[in-house]
Parts: sequence; structure tokens; C-alpha cells
Amino acid sequence: MAGQSDNVKPNLQRLTSDIEVLSSFSDPSKPGWTRRPFTAWYESGRQWLTERMHEAGLEVSVDAAANLIGRLPGLNPALPSILIGSHTDTVQGGGRFDGIIGVVGGLEIARRLKESGVRLQHTLEIVDFTAEEPSEFGISTIGSRGMVGTLTEEMMHKQDPNGLCLRDAIDRIGGRSSDLMTEVRKPGEVALYLELHIEQGPVLVETGRTLGAVTGIVGIHRYRIRVTGQPNHAGTTPMSMRQDALTGFGEICLALERICRSYGDRLVGTIGRVFNEPNASNVIPSDVTFEMEIRSLDPLLSEQVHTSFVTEAYEIAARRQLALKEELLSRSEPVHVNANVLELIEHNCALVAPVMKLPSGAGHDANQLARIAPIGMIFVPSRGGRSHCPEEWTDYEQVAAGVEALALSLLQYDQIYGDVKIHVSE
Ligand SMILES: [Zn+2]
Repeated sequence: MAGQSDNVKPNLQRLTSDIEVLSSFSDPSKPGWTRRPFTAWYESGRQWLTERMHEAGLEVSVDAAANLIGRLPGLNPALPSILIGSHTDTVQGGGRFDGIIGVVGGLEIARRLKESGVRLQHTLEIVDFTAEEPSEFGISTIGSRGMVGTLTEEMMHKQDPNGLCLRDAIDRIGGRSSDLMTEVRKPGEVALYLELHIEQGPVLVETGRTLGAVTGIVGIHRYRIRVTGQPNHAGTTPMSMRQDALTGFGEICLALERICRSYGDRLVGTIGRVFNEPNASNVIPSDVTFEMEIRSLDPLLSEQVHTSFVTEAYEIAARRQLALKEELLSRSEPVHVNANVLELIEHNCALVAPVMKLPSGAGHDANQLARIAPIGMIFVPSRGGRSHCPEEWTDYEQVAAGVEALALSLLQYDQIYGDVKIHVSE
């Protein structure tokens, strides 16, 4: 391993240049570095990436879901592939690192393997997943959903504001929507999925660590709650005789914050969307509808917090003579990194730079891949904890450390599980 680790050390200059060039394919009419999926800038970026993959000697293809894939065949064709992936689309007004470091980092690993003549047992596939961020079709992680079979017919018929349906958008950028179901990868067909990503939060920076070994991706429970009081004249109704839905909401909102804080780092809860009615300066608010979410790696804990919150919200409402109505909007289950993979990643990160374990509070393509394969993720710091904005920044040396840790993890996994599988097949 000691000898191999030097071989796969990324070329910092090349990595830096790749990130700078790929991020420069952006819509000049939009703020920051905007590369929305299915646009000309997105396609130009992918064209550039395709050329880099060819240059690196990879077998380049586009799958049914329009995922761009560079393949480096392994020594043992009987083994399932190891995938390294992420995305090259951005949110509007996004930054230079979200997504692309995972794709460019994977490419750099494949290049270093080629250049140093290190052959893996497993085939390695570097994947640029189609449209990871929320798209104009109202769907995110489109490519990774397509790969694992969770892109439904209903989703394929969703239209963007111009009336283009997702099926046609996928076909326009080189996908084959009619082959989607036949190309779906099933459990066992991917040995391991790895992703390098910016943290998009402040924890690594605050704790002074360079690398994060991701323990899992939080599940999200989302609810819509309506608080109903009575509209009345803001001038003539005494303070003691009001049923003000907004002040009731204020108390409920603070209750959520207090309850969630009492659990330390184990979960987060947010009310991020609020509608006040009638929203007039001279009328006491009659209705407040808000959306609340709880994110945690532990679904039971999320349930527990939800129950405490709702119980308290009903108490507040009753005291203020308000009515409360709650509905569940969505519920996604957490994804866990299995103990062996986590240990392997943490170990290899530690060989490169100071590391800590932490959960991912944001969703990724890894959420989808986890349906068919074990996953592992490495985070690098986001300066100021910021992302999805032009200020998004990670030092290139930190990106390189992440790429190196990913490469070492890949080599070790390949060594351990490549051998095991050979013995099994014999
Ligand atoms: Zn991302």
C-alpha cells in the first residue's frame, strides 16, 4: 500500500485547472457559476469532460438516463464495478465546487491509475450523474434515479415551464429514455459507490479538520401545519380578546427550536416556509400555514421529536384558542454507510489529513445508489460553511486531500474485496 499511495496522489495543478475550466462553463446571464441541467452550458461542460475522459484512455459512454460514464476495465471481469460519481449541474447562482469536484476527482484518480500502471481487480466507472440539483421538472437526482430504477413513468412525463417533458430532455442530451428500465442496475451489480463532495456546512471548518468520513445521509420528515384563529380589526380588538394565528405560530416556531436544540447534534429542525393570511397590516392574522422538517440519521428520534413538538403545538394552540391541522408531506429514510466501508474510509482519510466522522445533512446521488450498493462519501471543507452561492469555496489543496483519500480507499477496497470475490468464484 505504501508504494501504491504515491502512485495515486493527484496532480494538484491538473486538478485545479480541471475545476477552474469546468466551472467556467456557466451561463453569463445568471449570477455566480450557473450551469443548469439540460442547458447549452451544461452540454458544453459535458462535452469538455467527455474529451478529458477520452484523453485519459477511458471507455466513454452515455447511459439511458444520460449519465456520462468513463470506464476503466478491471483485471477480473467477473467482479461488479466500483463507481465514483457526482454531478456537474449547479443550482442557479451556484458555486465552483459543488458536484464537480466529485466528478473531476474521480477522473483524476482514473488518470493516476492509468499513468502509474496500477490495475484494479474491479472495473472502475467515473460517473457524471444527470441533473442532481432540483430541476425545472421538479425532480432532483434524475440520473442516479434513472440508474437504480426510481425514475418513474410519472416523473418522465413531468414538464418544465416551457412544456418540454423530462423524457425528451433526457433524450436531447444523449440519453435513451425508452431503454431506461432495461439498463437499470440491480443490487449486486455495483460493488461500491464512492462520492467526494463539499460538506456544504460549517462543521469541518469549525473543528479544523480537512476531511470528513460521512456516516450516513439524514432522512427528512416534512409536514405542513395550519394554525387557524380569527381575523379581526387590528385597531378595535383589545389584546386580551384576540385569536391571532401569527403570534400563536411564533410561539410554536420557538418551541420547535427549543426542542431540537435539546437533542444537541443529533438532529435539526426547521420551519422554512410560512404563509400568513390575510397578510394585511390592519387585520389580525387568521391563518398561518407553515412547512416544518426534521432531519436525522435516526428515524425513531425524528418521530420522537415530532411527537413532542406536535404535543406542545396543540397545547399552545388550545391556550390561545387556535385550531391546528397537520399533514405529512414527505418522508425519506436515512441512508447509512456500513461499518466496514466507514472504517476503511476513515482509516484512509487519516493517512492523508485530519479527519472526523460526520453525517450529511444534504441529499446526494449517493441516496439513490444506496438502494443497490454500499456507499461511502468523503467531505472536504466549505469555507464559512457556505454553498449553493457564488462564495462557495474549498482550497484546492483540500480538494486534493479528498481525492487522495478517495483513491486510497478505492485501492484498499479493491485489494480486500477483489481477492475475496476471486476466492469465492473459484
Ligand atoms: Zn452536490
